[in-house]
Amino acid sequence: MSFADKVVIVTGASSGIGAAVGIKFAEEGANVALVARNQVKLKEVVAKCEEHGGKVLVLIADVTKNEDVKKIIEQTIKQFGKIDILVNNAGIIRKAAVWDENAIDVFDSVMTTNLRSVVHLTNLAAQHLIQTKGNVVNVSSIAAVDAMSPEYFAYCTSKAGLDQFMRSAALEFSAKGVRVNSVNPGPVRTDFVQNLGVNKSEADSFWDKTKNWTTLGRISDPEEIADLVLFLASDKARSVTGSSYVIDNGCLLKRPYNM
Ligand code: NDP
Repeated sequence: MSFADKVVIVTGASSGIGAAVGIKFAEEGANVALVARNQVKLKEVVAKCEEHGGKVLVLIADVTKNEDVKKIIEQTIKQFGKIDILVNNAGIIRKAAVWDENAIDVFDSVMTTNLRSVVHLTNLAAQHLIQTKGNVVNVSSIAAVDAMSPEYFAYCTSKAGLDQFMRSAALEFSAKGVRVNSVNPGPVRTDFVQNLGVNKSEADSFWDKTKNWTTLGRISDPEEIADLVLFLASDKARSVTGSSYVIDNGCLLKRPYNM
């Protein structure tokens, strides 16, 4: 899978899955625009991408801010002249029960980050993707198809909405030669839960526990999710659009028996 001369935007590229996706695209010869808010973490990823010789554009941006989203598209076009692939990966998880006092605040922040930003970026990237007959890959979750655990209604709703947006966008873009798909991971060992506010040792024991949620008795590394993202973004997947690819070590298979 060579992506030589392709231009790829990856949001949430400062850690976890987004970092792995950015590095793998760079390994395959792509020019990458890496988007995140944390400059320090992003710098480490940039260094790994540059080892492979591809050009890297660093975009310190918050995908929930309209002006930042515009900047992501404008600066990518200014630097590279086109967009071939958009990977919408940035995402957050926040905890609140439906009846909690802060439920609407949690809902707004999760929906704005996980769904609205994707709609906005796809909207602004659309004409550029049509020109290159490019494609979009969204990083969704198995939470799109399962209510997961109590107090995560906002996250599950955002990812279900993301999958429906993916199908609707795939339908609209098909006549223009642009594909849209998603990957739906189960547990992946990243900073995701630490970013929710738990400390490292609690996070480690959480990830260890999640192995028991899967039929394969293991959880994924970010690189495994990145491999699937690259496959979907490649010409090998030219017949695939409007599809969500579960990659969860059998988590959904086992789920009913965990209840
Ligand atoms: P991480 O917390 O490691 O990465 C999240 C990334 O999103 C970071 O780079 C963060 O960068 C970025 N981000 C968050 N908010 C914003 C924002 N407002 N603007 C720009 N960037 C933002 O988690 P993961 O790698 O695990 O998560 C990546 C995606 O994978 C998410 O969409 C998540 O829902 C999904 N996923 C993860 C699973 C898991 O088990 N880990 C399972 C299923 C899906 P910064 O803070 O620098 O802005």
